Amino acid sequence: MAGEPQADCLFCKIVTGEVPATVVHETDTTYAFRDINPQAPTHVLVIPKAHYPDAASLAAAEPKIAADVLHAAGQVAAQEGIDGTGFRIVFNTGTGAGQTVFHAHAHVLGGRGLQWPPG
Ligand code: IMP
Repeated sequence: MAGEPQADCLFCKIVTGEVPATVVHETDTTYAFRDINPQAPTHVLVIPKAHYPDAASLAAAEPKIAADVLHAAGQVAAQEGIDGTGFRIVFNTGTGAGQTVFHAHAHVLGGRGLQWPPG
């Protein structure tokens, strides 16, 4: 059923603690932890606790939780001290865009200059 934990999902396992992660922020609906392969001095993943395969399907099914993810991303940026200099929130959506984990997640990136357009 939509939103239910998936046994084979890495990020569902991080939410339950089955897979360890460095957690930096948590709300009733969201979870945030450091990316294992950081692409910037600050690189945090913000996810909904509920399982949706990508940001678009999350927003379609649970717009309030999608907003919670964005709100949490802003709070993480402030907590990490990158809100003043600028930061990026990225939702890779689909394999062609570089998505590799099919549990919706926002990358929060900052702490260095970020180029545009991204690769
Ligand atoms: P995607 O490529 O947009 O789907 O992002 C998935 C992200 O998850 C990548 O940046 C990975 O480095 C990250 N990642 C994969 N496994 C783990 C883990 O076990 N802990 C934290 N981050 C992970």
